[in-house]
Amino acid sequence: MADQEGQLDWDTALEALARLYELVDRQARALAAVHKDRICCRKGCSSCCKDGLTVFELEAMNIRRNHAGLLQTAKPHEVGMCAFLDEQGACRIYPSRPYVCRTEGLPLRWIDQMPDGSPVEMRDICPLNDQGPAIETLDLNLCWTIGPVEEALAELEAQCDGGRLRRVGLRELFAAGQR
Ligand code: SF4
Ligand code: SF4
Repeated sequence: MADQEGQLDWDTALEALARLYELVDRQARALAAVHKDRICCRKGCSSCCKDGLTVFELEAMNIRRNHAGLLQTAKPHEVGMCAFLDEQGACRIYPSRPYVCRTEGLPLRWIDQMPDGSPVEMRDICPLNDQGPAIETLDLNLCWTIGPVEEALAELEAQCDGGRLRRVGLRELFAAGQR
């Protein structure tokens, strides 16, 4: 529910986040199906799960609410890899993983700036999935465009946190005694 200033309460914002995740997952699944011959992502493959990832407070809140027990009692993975990886290289918060983890492995594209300020399109993909046609040759609709979901997330975050865009480190979510 929004107040008179358009601020959302956390429950409403978390429901909106769940809908955004559903949309991202649906679109990411469709793209992964198109690229099934090159994408080898699977449980236990985890070199993309780097340490030091930060998320908006809203995504952090989602993890806190859904994994309170884990955060209180479990140890984070040792420094060097994402704190949420387990011993087998699987994600311990997979259903609540942040947006950025939901598109990892797909051909990614985004618009950057040249030193003279002109726009330039950049592309990237996990090296393990970099087989088949060069990603530079793919139709742009066959790549995940970085930007729109980030903007939607920032808008949602600003609506529920007094206009702030707070970032939280994933490792910081574990109880201080466990870190
Ligand atoms: S993005 Fe790369 S490292 Fe991550 S699961 Fe997929 S293939 Fe493995
Ligand atoms: S939250 Fe899960 S999927 Fe995302 S980087 Fe960490 S272990 Fe990997």
